[in-house]
Formats: sequence, structure tokens, C-alpha cells
Amino acid sequence: MPSLPKFPPRALSSFRRRLLAWFRANQRDLPWRRRRDPYRIWLSEVMLQQTRVAAVLPYYGRFLRRFPTVRVLGRAPLNDVLKHWAGLGYYSRARNLHAAAKVIVARHGGRFPRDHRAALELPGIGGYTAAAILSIAYGQPLAALDGNVARVLARLGAVRGDLRVPSRWHRLGQIAQELLAVRAPGEWNQAMMELGATVCTPRAPRCQACPVSHWCRAYALGIVNELPAKRVKRAPKRMSIAAAVLLDPRKRTLLVKNPGRQDGVLFSRMWQFPAVEVKTNPAEELAQHLQDSFGLRKEPLRALPGASHSVTYRQVVLLPFLARVERLPKKPGARAIPLGTIRAIPISSATRKIAAAAQQYVRS
Ligand code: SF4
Repeated sequence: MPSLPKFPPRALSSFRRRLLAWFRANQRDLPWRRRRDPYRIWLSEVMLQQTRVAAVLPYYGRFLRRFPTVRVLGRAPLNDVLKHWAGLGYYSRARNLHAAAKVIVARHGGRFPRDHRAALELPGIGGYTAAAILSIAYGQPLAALDGNVARVLARLGAVRGDLRVPSRWHRLGQIAQELLAVRAPGEWNQAMMELGATVCTPRAPRCQACPVSHWCRAYALGIVNELPAKRVKRAPKRMSIAAAVLLDPRKRTLLVKNPGRQDGVLFSRMWQFPAVEVKTNPAEELAQHLQDSFGLRKEPLRALPGASHSVTYRQVVLLPFLARVERLPKKPGARAIPLGTIRAIPISSATRKIAAAAQQYVRS
């Protein structure tokens, strides 16, 4: 089970002082660090899940301009929220954020709850996010353990093995809590994350510039680049999805919502083109799907340029096809919109790629 060097109390104080001083002098100037508003901190923590800081920055500003408070967010239509999230990915985050805003307005007077249990009950809030928000916004002594922090701890303690094994992750959480500077928990959590993001990076950590190298076991043993151990990755799943851009004489196209499990993952449960996973003959299989699901006669399908798309462990080849039809089929859960206005509604980046291929063709 992982451990860290047992710090005598004075050494632990020096360790904490050194890291906090480094953070105060070197932290990046990020917009969510300028104010202690729990809503802004919450929003940043959600946007930063699985997403790089540089990718989040433009979305963060735009989102706050449109939804400056929890109340405004809670009142807004979900579609509007998704539209401001479009392109950032992992759309369940936006749905949960919106649902949690409603709960916060209804049960907590419009302010993110201070109570740990109440925070954990909100949609989309797990242990890490709750600890990060409550420590930074309210100074609560909760250590936040994410991938960056786990990597720092693993190197400090020369911890071997896959860090995501539940018992090991749990122990790392306990260690993070033991190290926490309880007088400045928010700053401490951010300092640990900042160290992991800028110095103790996954590849080529800058140990020469590290404020806590003196206490680092991996550095002393010369095994920094061996830690943490590589995760046992799920084998990538390759798949091909054929999608139909139906176009009527008024250049309107058909979009559908939540048609199937596979599609839900790929198209983030947003409006999408009719699509089906294909194996050997994409045009034929798609035509069959259009007939079975929409009652369309087997129309000639024109292949458009394909695109690749990755979602978690899935590597998807998108195969768009264009079909000109006299009339778009009518069906519950389907809507017709002008192809040229598709960007005005919330769609996933996979749907964007398909729409772009079709628009390119229609224009040329
Ligand atoms: Fe990470 Fe190197 Fe610092 Fe150790 S000395 S914590 S490996 S940057």
C-alpha cells in the first residue's frame, strides 16, 4: 500500500510552506482564480474535467457572460446551455450543471451549498469536485485528489502500480488529506494541482525547478520517469457510423434525438442526423436503416468526404451520405431545419463534421 516519507511535524511544515510560497509566486493567472465566487469556481472545475486549461478559457468567459449567476443558469432553457457548451465535449457535464443550478436555487437559496453532503448530492458533483469547490470557495479542510495530484503523490512516495486501482486510489486520498495545509486548504489544493500541471508533468517533469524535490523519493531514487505506472488501457474499439443528410427541395434536413445507445455516446444525446453503425456495405446498410426507421424508399445515396472522430476508447470513422428527397419524413423525436442554420442549435462535434461535409458539397 502506498506511503509517503513520514514527515516529522517540522519537516511537514517546511514542505507545506515551500509549496505554498512557490504557488503564490508562480501560479498562472487564470480567470477563475480572480474571485472566490463559488459559482465561478464550480463552473471552472466542471469545465476543466478531462479538458485542458487552454481549451476551457474561451468557453468560460462566454458562458459567464450569458449565465452570470446560478439563478440565470437555472432559469435558462437546457438547449441554450448546451449551445454555449457545444464543442467542449462531455455534454453530460452541461446537463448536470444545469440540473444542479435548479437544485441550488430551489433548495439552497441560489448559493452553492457549504455542506459537504449537500454538495455531493448535486448532479455531477463527485468527491474531487466537491472538495475542490468547498476548499477554494469556503476554506473547508478537504483534500482534492485528481490525476495531477495523484501523480505528484505517487512520485513523492515512489508509489508503484496502477494508481486507479480502487484500494490504491483510496490510500492516495488519505495521504492527500494528511498532507493538506488545513489553514489554507483551497490554496493548498490549487498548489498541488498547479505543481502537477506545470512542473511534475506526466512527461519530462522539471525536477530541477521543483519546490519540493528535497522530499521526493522518486527523485532521490532516480525513477521519476517510471512513475506513475502506465494504466492498463481498454483496447480501442474501431467502428464505422454512416449518417444520412436528407435534403428536401427547400434545403431543409432532418435531425433526430436519442435514437439509439451507440448514437447517444457519439452524438452526446443532442440533435443528430439519422445514423447507424455499419460493417461491410455502408450505403446499403444506411439505406436499409432509413427504410426501417423512417419509411424511406431506398433513395440513391451520395457519399460525402468521411472524417474520423474519437470518443473515449472508441475510434469512429464517420461516413456521411447525402440523399435528396421530395419530402422529409415526419416522426416523433425528429425535426426539419434548414441545413444552413444547423450551427444555431446544440449539436455535438461529430454532427458538426457531418454537417460541414454536406454544406461543402451543397455549395460546390
Ligand atoms: Fe515531481 Fe520531480 Fe518534484 Fe518529484 S522532484 S515531485 S518527480 S517534479
